[in-house]
Amino acid sequence: MEPRSIEARYEELRGELIDEIRASGIDDLEILRLFHRVPRHLFLPDAVRPRAYENVALPIGYGQTASQPTVQALYLHILRPAPDDRVLEIGTGSGFLTALLALTAGRVYSVERVRDLSARARKVLDDLGITNAALLVGDGTLGWRRFAPYTVIAVSAAAPVLPPALLEQLDDGGRMLIPLGTPREQRITLVRRQRGQVTEEVVSRGCAFVPLLGRYGWDPDTGEACS
Ligand code: SAH
Repeated sequence: MEPRSIEARYEELRGELIDEIRASGIDDLEILRLFHRVPRHLFLPDAVRPRAYENVALPIGYGQTASQPTVQALYLHILRPAPDDRVLEIGTGSGFLTALLALTAGRVYSVERVRDLSARARKVLDDLGITNAALLVGDGTLGWRRFAPYTVIAVSAAAPVLPPALLEQLDDGGRMLIPLGTPREQRITLVRRQRGQVTEEVVSRGCAFVPLLGRYGWDPDTGEACS
């Protein structure tokens, strides 16, 4: 196909994906517009790029996946990042959610353990002119202490327990979404801190994220939960 018609085809498929997100129950116009504005295909490796607008998780190399679009829409819907929010994202991956967060929040701090994925995400964010997202290569189960506290924390990989450092770095009035459970199945959990009180609420069950590997995640060598 000619480059122009490829872009037109992507545009059409993007519209269908947005219909699917709306059908999943998210009719917030601002969120739907974001999915229109940020071309997901730019964040994906060539091999899966033609599938960018399917509502599925897609492989991005290193055994990792870009999350399912309806799950990311749910994250935005529940976290509702706003211009005065400082967001901590754990698991930059492709950088697609980083971009969606950066276009709604004041500043995004995103941690990824795979150096190459972080570098690739940086390039795409730069190409799109997104300048309010800082990326760090490291163990996100320890958060990013330097810029804490955060009003929003979005964790995109499955944890056995709530990493204590993330809770410590959550500001009062802040909200965090994190998939908690086994490596096979998790519940997306909303953690809130209000006037010093921490509450947890399950917002979605039966999810399958890639594992959060690290000090307070799963052990990369044994697959056991670390603590
Ligand atoms: N929102 C991303 C999701 C990527 S999958 C996207 O849509 O592309 C989750 C990512 O978390 C993977 O890239 C994986 O390498 C990363 N990850 C796993 N454990 C981590 C840790 N302890 N610290 C930082 N990143 C981690």
